[in-house]
Amino acid sequence: MSSDKKIFKRVQKHLRRDVWEAWQQYSLIENGDKVMVCLSGGKDSYTLLDILLHYQKESDIDFSIVAVNLDQKQPGFPEEVLPKYLSDLGVDFRIEAKDTYSIVKATIEEGKTMCSLCSRLRRGNLYRMADELQATKIALGHHRDDIIETFFMNLFNGSRIETMPPKYVTDDNRHIVIRPLAFCKESEIALYAEEKAFPIIPCTLCGSQENLMRKKVKKMIGEWETEYPGRSSSIFNSLKHINPSHLLDNRLFDFSSLEEIRDLGSNQ
Ligand code: SF4
Repeated sequence: MSSDKKIFKRVQKHLRRDVWEAWQQYSLIENGDKVMVCLSGGKDSYTLLDILLHYQKESDIDFSIVAVNLDQKQPGFPEEVLPKYLSDLGVDFRIEAKDTYSIVKATIEEGKTMCSLCSRLRRGNLYRMADELQATKIALGHHRDDIIETFFMNLFNGSRIETMPPKYVTDDNRHIVIRPLAFCKESEIALYAEEKAFPIIPCTLCGSQENLMRKKVKKMIGEWETEYPGRSSSIFNSLKHINPSHLLDNRLFDFSSLEEIRDLGSNQ
């Protein structure tokens, strides 16, 4: 086996293992689920679909998959790419065109980042599609590095400890959103996508400014990782080990109960 092939096999094993671990730890997909996999045409969502299709064949869990894409009418969006890819795979899919691009362009000042409004409009349409398709889970392609970056963005700019969870219910309590790649490293996804030669659709078609803050945070984490290898894993693991009694949020821990605990202890 060539060394490239060996690396690919190793990365594939890691990614499948990581998805399975997140799946088990957060009960992501269960028997009878209909999973709507949101495909953007980027490396992450192709990898997500690929790994879920693997487990649809290889696991004992009986679930169905429908892939969806929202064509937001960004100029130059290659409409033929996803239908061809999904038809060749034999996957059930739905592609819907909705010109949210014009709405975003008309609303956001020239030169400002359009991502927040664009994502909000996309999300609304995806939730509607999930209703129409009677999907029981909505799967997104966010990975471990997205989760770490979002954690720091909220910490630095939002004054809150919060990130993208592997599973959550939408604000209206109507949909469960899952992130099966939550434990997967972006570098491994990139390598996997390249080896699999997924027909990537560039995400720059909209012409939006890159999210500067995310870029800076990514750079900061990358520099830490170079200087202190393993730091990203340590940060990520700390998100799974939270001790509310050693933080300052009195909504999560009842500090006024400590005297009672002490008095009970001293009477024993
Ligand atoms: S990069 Fe473009 S398509 Fe992606 S969320 Fe931002 S505005 Fe929307």
